[in-house]
Amino acid sequence: MIKPLVGQSKTPAGIVLRGARELAAMREAGRIVARVHEAMQRAVRPGMSTAELDAIAEDVIRSHDAIPTFLGYHGFPASICTSINDEIVHGIPSPERLLKEGDIISIDVGATFKGWVGDSAWTYAVGAISSEAQALLDATEGALWAGIEQARSGNRLGDISSAVQAYAAESRGFAIIREYSGHGVGRQMHEPPQILNYGQPGTGIRLRPGMVFALEPMVAAGHWLTKVDADGWTVRTQDGSLSAHFEHTLAVTPDDPMIMTIL
Ligand code: MG
Ligand code: MG
Repeated sequence: MIKPLVGQSKTPAGIVLRGARELAAMREAGRIVARVHEAMQRAVRPGMSTAELDAIAEDVIRSHDAIPTFLGYHGFPASICTSINDEIVHGIPSPERLLKEGDIISIDVGATFKGWVGDSAWTYAVGAISSEAQALLDATEGALWAGIEQARSGNRLGDISSAVQAYAAESRGFAIIREYSGHGVGRQMHEPPQILNYGQPGTGIRLRPGMVFALEPMVAAGHWLTKVDADGWTVRTQDGSLSAHFEHTLAVTPDDPMIMTIL
């Protein structure tokens, strides 16, 4: 019998529990992702193309000796996903796609550093945006923080899911996107468990210290049904309504959740 390495134990649900050294390494990957978002926040403005944003992001990632996790992932052709207005996720950067005043753009970033993945998305306002768009951004970011607050040892996965749903949908009148979800993260970008953005409190697996999750509410101002463009990647709302996406990578600890993808 092979004795598991410290911090490498697996739960029955197949979720790897990370030890302190592994979490410290993941924190470094997450910090690089946060630096990319810092650069994105500065760069997003009317007239900027999504390909230019991609180039800036790739430069930041590589300058930290990290690898753009998304590049080549199932054939994805860029380092970030750029999803504008009714696009929800997986938009492909393009030199022809220019940001306009009043747009909202969701930028999803993954970086792999020393074999560990950090994953974080944020939706940015391009110049001045409508009050409806701002409300959607506020509700979606708030839903992420409501979910993070529930990512505590002893809670269940459904406590996260229901908190996200309650914040974004029930109290604000927006729709949770149901066809895409959050996930475990570690050596791979997508590991067990799947983390739905809707659900019932008190259900699902019990959370334990060392679990690392990417929580990522996606919220539509209209209906939650989605469609995929002919490019095979870009996911948008069927009804053309605006959509926002906020994501952090975080670890469950004995105390407060440890957010990886901040500076
Ligand atoms: Mg992501
Ligand atoms: Mg993710």
